[in-house]
Amino acid sequence: MFRSLHMKLMLIMTLLIVSLMTVVGAFLVNSVSGYYLNQFYSQMQVVFQNDADFFHDLETAGPEEENGARQIDEMLRTRTGDLGVDGLSRNYYVLDGTTGAYLAGTNDTEGLTLELTHNLSAALIGEVGDDSDPALSYMDAAIPIHRGGRDYVIYIKDNKQAVQSLTSQLVTLILEALAFGIVISVLLSFLLSKTLITPIERLTEGAEEVASGDFSRKLEVDSRDEIGVLTSTFNDMARQLQNTLQEVENERNKLGTLFLHMTDGVVAFGRDGAIIQSNPAAEEMLGRALPIGGAVDYEALFGDIAPLAQALEPGGLGFIAGSRELEGRSLELLLAPFDRDHQAGVLVVIHDVTERNKTEEMRKEFVANVSHELRTPLTNIHSYAETLVDSAGALPPEMERNFLNVILSESERMAHIVQDLLTLSRFDSGKSELNLTTFSFAETIETMVNANRLEAQRHGHTLAVNLEPALPCITADRERITQVMMNIVSNSIKYTPDGGTIQVSAGRMKDKKVWLEVSDDGIGIPEKDRERIFERFYRVDKARSRESGGTGLGLSIAKEIVDQHKGEIFIVDKPQPGLTVRVELPMEGPGHGKA
Ligand code: ADP
Repeated sequence: MFRSLHMKLMLIMTLLIVSLMTVVGAFLVNSVSGYYLNQFYSQMQVVFQNDADFFHDLETAGPEEENGARQIDEMLRTRTGDLGVDGLSRNYYVLDGTTGAYLAGTNDTEGLTLELTHNLSAALIGEVGDDSDPALSYMDAAIPIHRGGRDYVIYIKDNKQAVQSLTSQLVTLILEALAFGIVISVLLSFLLSKTLITPIERLTEGAEEVASGDFSRKLEVDSRDEIGVLTSTFNDMARQLQNTLQEVENERNKLGTLFLHMTDGVVAFGRDGAIIQSNPAAEEMLGRALPIGGAVDYEALFGDIAPLAQALEPGGLGFIAGSRELEGRSLELLLAPFDRDHQAGVLVVIHDVTERNKTEEMRKEFVANVSHELRTPLTNIHSYAETLVDSAGALPPEMERNFLNVILSESERMAHIVQDLLTLSRFDSGKSELNLTTFSFAETIETMVNANRLEAQRHGHTLAVNLEPALPCITADRERITQVMMNIVSNSIKYTPDGGTIQVSAGRMKDKKVWLEVSDDGIGIPEKDRERIFERFYRVDKARSRESGGTGLGLSIAKEIVDQHKGEIFIVDKPQPGLTVRVELPMEGPGHGKA
């Protein structure tokens, strides 16, 4: 009930008023009775002590006086005003100084039943009884009088009735004031709590909104006191918090996007081995769905590389490396704990190294091929030259010329290989730029076919051309496209036994493309090799290729050129015998073709 500040404030104010009034009341009542007591005794002093004549008269008996008490009574009656005797609450009595018997006074009834008080006892033995005791319910004073050879006692007693009635009036007044004070305190505390607590309540509401994530409301600062300072500090804090949260959110989004689109696969496991995060790349590489908190856990996926306990505490480098071959893919795995101090979980990063391995493999194969291709003609040149040197002109001139011809053709072959390698290397380094012009596709084909006609005739081949009417002009690098056609046609001439038929056809496709097909009825290429003949140095029959002057680079150069033109080159799937190679090119140049 007293937990709210309103109530606490009200309680404090009420307690304050009550305690204040109680203290004030107690002081008041006390000082009123103290005042009365003092006044009583000072009145006694004025009459009996200070007024020496009066006292003398009291003690001086007239001649042949019989009843001194009556005289004393009469004298006292003249001084009732000074003594404050009213005959009601304060009376005086003239008593016998020896027996204490009542002789005269202002209250005959009480006079006879007078109590023997301390002061009265003192007077009866001849001493003035003026001891005051505030605790008593009365005030009294007793003065011994010696008159006419007899002893009397003047006894004045006040039953404090007047004090009591004044005190009770005072108490009533104080109680009324207290009631009034309580009402005022309630009102005041209400007003005070309104001014004090309303801003605190607003602050509390604001804090609750911020706690629930709503930063939209700015609290109004309408005072410059401590609460005003607190409110503006709160506003600053909320703004700062909002900015920080926004930054954290941005960071999180950035990381989320990165995580989603990164090419490396990442799977995060909790310390119990359950999946807590994974990205699409990881699902793709592992070839399975990786639902968060699903049945698939760490042990099922990577338990074979290292048990979870070891992955959480890898020691040494701080991670465990592993690899895996999966559905023709080579994967490199890296298992590292995150938040190592608390062993929060394990992060597995999956790196697909299939391409890298393949490239490495190809690079090695390429170097081996280049070395081999160059060594063969070099060995030939070397042995023929050596023979020529050793014979020192002893060989018949016919044979000598033969040897020199071999040396010449082998060095030409080497130059040919080096030239092809250079061309490819220019493609690889991106230094080979196309010299685009617009030219007649049909005319280029005719020119190329004519250039090959002599060679075809030498092998007894029939070289037929079949072009669709009205072939369009194309935008391309004419020289390079001619090189592509030459490579394909010369292959057909080379790999078709003498007397074969080679057909060159071309036409136009719907989507602004032209096509060219060269088909022959030669030895063809087995199904298994078709995919690879565009690779560098790949040859179906090495001996035969070399025999016919081939380098194994012609088709790979052709493919590079066609790719550069954003076109396509492929083997047409046709039944044996022979082979059909098809090229498709965008008419409007590489900028407009298929990306
Ligand atoms: P090469 O210089 O050896 O001819 P290419 O790259 O031009 O090299 O051709 C690669 C391989 O493809 C050749 O070695 C050959 O085995 C095969 N090939 C190319 N064209 C034909 C064809 N028309 N008929 C049969 N085999 C072919």
